[in-house]
Amino acid sequence: MAKVVIVGGGVAGLSAGIYARLSGFETEILEAHGKAGGNLTGWDREGYHIDNCIHWLTGTNPVTEMYKMWETLGVLGGVEVYQPETLYTYSMSGETLSLSRDIGMLEQDMLFYSENDDKEIFLLIDAIKAAKAFCGISADSNDKRVSTAEVIRLSPRLLRYFVMTAGELAQKFHSPLIRGFLRSLLGESFGAIALIFVFATFCSDNGGIPAGSSCAMAKRMTERYTDLGGVLRCSSPVREICIDRKKARSVILQNGRNVDADYVILACDPACAFGRLLNSRLMPRKLMRRYRDRSFRRFSSFHCAFSCEGELPFRGDLILDLPDDLRNEFQSDYLVLREFSHERSFSPEGKQLLQTICFCDEDVSRRFIRLKGNKVEYCRYKEDLRDRIVEVIRGQFPALAASLTPIDCWTPATYSRYTHSPTGSYMSFAFSAGRLPRFIGGRVKGVGNLLLATQWQQVPGGLPSAAFAGQMAVREMILLESRKKAPRPVWQNESVENPIA
Ligand SMILES: Cc1cc2nc3c(=O)[nH]c(=O)nc-3n(C[C@H](O)[C@H](O)[C@H](O)COP(=O)(O)OP(=O)(O)OC[C@H]3O[C@@H](n4cnc5c(N)ncnc54)[C@H](O)[C@@H]3O)c2cc1C
Repeated sequence: MAKVVIVGGGVAGLSAGIYARLSGFETEILEAHGKAGGNLTGWDREGYHIDNCIHWLTGTNPVTEMYKMWETLGVLGGVEVYQPETLYTYSMSGETLSLSRDIGMLEQDMLFYSENDDKEIFLLIDAIKAAKAFCGISADSNDKRVSTAEVIRLSPRLLRYFVMTAGELAQKFHSPLIRGFLRSLLGESFGAIALIFVFATFCSDNGGIPAGSSCAMAKRMTERYTDLGGVLRCSSPVREICIDRKKARSVILQNGRNVDADYVILACDPACAFGRLLNSRLMPRKLMRRYRDRSFRRFSSFHCAFSCEGELPFRGDLILDLPDDLRNEFQSDYLVLREFSHERSFSPEGKQLLQTICFCDEDVSRRFIRLKGNKVEYCRYKEDLRDRIVEVIRGQFPALAASLTPIDCWTPATYSRYTHSPTGSYMSFAFSAGRLPRFIGGRVKGVGNLLLATQWQQVPGGLPSAAFAGQMAVREMILLESRKKAPRPVWQNESVENPIA
């Protein structure tokens, strides 16, 4: 049985481990931290549970192929899924617009606020319906791959949005509320088509939150892996991958331990792995080009968590405009407020947890990371930003702001420390307009048994991309092994579904 050593126990590494075990490989995952999951994580603070990750998990609708992948990975299947009524609500000058699960309701609400925009509203709703069909989750074609004829029929309804950014789409509307609504979820520079696919996913019950959210999902994946007999070594940071005569021979841990391997799968952030663990010249060229191309942007975010008394005055994610001073700090325009009333165990009886997010572009993220070198200044800056965020909340909900007690605050520097990403990025490159986000294959040229499994192979990353990359790395290994005439594993009959293509 060939032995696979997997560097990194995030979703990509766990997925690779599970599929490799199902395919009969001997596996060992080496994870730097005390538990597996990577960015799919959360932590406890002062009696509260802070959830770091899932806003929506694509693939929660049981008719989709992706659901089957999550079932194989132990994430879904017999697990309750919370399907929120709204994905997010944008609020401006006392008026609000929500993305409801019922697409008809979104259409009515948009028309209510701006009859003048009727033409653009109908086109947008039509495109969301076409995107649903593309994903095989429209009411009349559940779980059917779209036929070529259907692609030709649906494409014109989507093509228009492929070439524009969310900001350009927003400009087509007269209503400032609708404009803010369209810009605020992913930011203005994201491709409009990405926004449409997120809307379509959510409106098809395909973007819910599995019970227990991020930590519970990571735990289920970890258990699935170990139940299959996979070896997981936590607190085992890897220092080096030894390459000799065009083969990865072994992996060396920071404590000097040597682990021999027939295959090595790199399932950690490649921006750090190539350079620290391996020669940077080995990075696949296509990936290198994306890192060098300034139009492939990376991003991170600044977060605060507060405890508060009683009920929160909103449900789901609420997005507010940032004032100019904070826009300058973060180089982004919006403040996201998150509540967790669907997870009663996240806060003590009678209390609530409120988390806030401000997205930061690459340059702002690097500034946080540099500042971390000066602990006093870094802490002072975090507290100052947190207090200014409370003032934004006060402007909207004075009573709520009065009851807030800060319990945590974390920044792009936190993500950088946790995953070694040089920019603190926890998703892959932002999805820009007019580009087909092709999946970059996981083979490392010149080292036959070294493979990549990471969300960075796919724009814009996320949990499905990470899991898919893990599956693809194992498919590659099976291909390599097939030269030795190994039998085809049963799971390979699952159709391959690229989460983005
Ligand atoms: C705030 C936030 C919100 C998000 N929301 C969503 C969402 O709603 N939906 C969604 O789909 N995705 C979301 N994501 C993104 C999602 O978390 C990531 O796409 C996914 O977790 C990436 O998985 P990965 O395995 O590729 O990488 P990572 O999670 O980065 O895992 C890599 C692992 O490698 C380990 N590692 C690194 N270096 C070494 C080394 N030298 N030795 C050993 N181990 C090492 C790290 O410790 C880590 O565990 C969100 C992320 C964040 C932070």
